[in-house]
Amino acid sequence: MEKVKIIYHPKYLSDYPTASVESPERVKAIYDELKNDFEFVEPKPCSEDDLLLVHTPSIIKSVKINPLLFEVASLAVGGAILTSELAIKGDKAFGLIRPPGHHASPDHHWGFCFFNNMAIAMERLIRNNKIKKGLVLDIDLHFGDGTDNFFSSRKDMVVANIQASDRKSFVEQVKQVLEINIYDIIGISAGFDRYELDWGATLTTEDFEEIGKLVAINASKKCNGRCFALLEGGYYLPDLGKNVKALLNGMAYES
Ligand SMILES: [Zn+2]
Repeated sequence: MEKVKIIYHPKYLSDYPTASVESPERVKAIYDELKNDFEFVEPKPCSEDDLLLVHTPSIIKSVKINPLLFEVASLAVGGAILTSELAIKGDKAFGLIRPPGHHASPDHHWGFCFFNNMAIAMERLIRNNKIKKGLVLDIDLHFGDGTDNFFSSRKDMVVANIQASDRKSFVEQVKQVLEINIYDIIGISAGFDRYELDWGATLTTEDFEEIGKLVAINASKKCNGRCFALLEGGYYLPDLGKNVKALLNGMAYES
């Protein structure tokens, strides 16, 4: 079983200005859990042209006011791009990146997000003719309004925000979305804040593994196994690494 590759840069541990809950310790906890078992790949920052695929010049300018924030946010986008490109080449991959991105719309951002990592990575694959149609599976507790806003009028991207009040119907909805749609790649906006001990108080560690497995099974049936995941939310530090590992073990499943 081929393991999922991890895209990571030490600068993701930077203490840029954001809400205290979106702390460097989040990425550190996951890194510590994965460091001995997985292969790590270091990304480069994205270019300004990459940012302009999704964002307006004015939002880019507003993030640039803080050079450290701009540097790390550009590295997160660069990490997302590399993660998606590895998936295109046939390597399943996970972007262990921060800041998260799914609340970043073309012209505004909130919720600890600055640039939309997932939207830029997917848009770049489309513009470069690497895919014709993609699926964004957003399993974060919060609705990924930024990604949804960017792709809302488009037929070449399905953005599925899974919202269910109990774990059984959540996993069932994930299954349905994966089965009814057609796509050339699956990108998981991987938030872990729906975990039973986190804010959402719903999903178990086993559920994250099951979701990863469902993605792997459908990716292998429909798109040559191409799938990747990008870190979004997740704030219960003691089990965050364990839950990420569960999702990645599920994604590595080969039927
Ligand atoms: Zn969230």
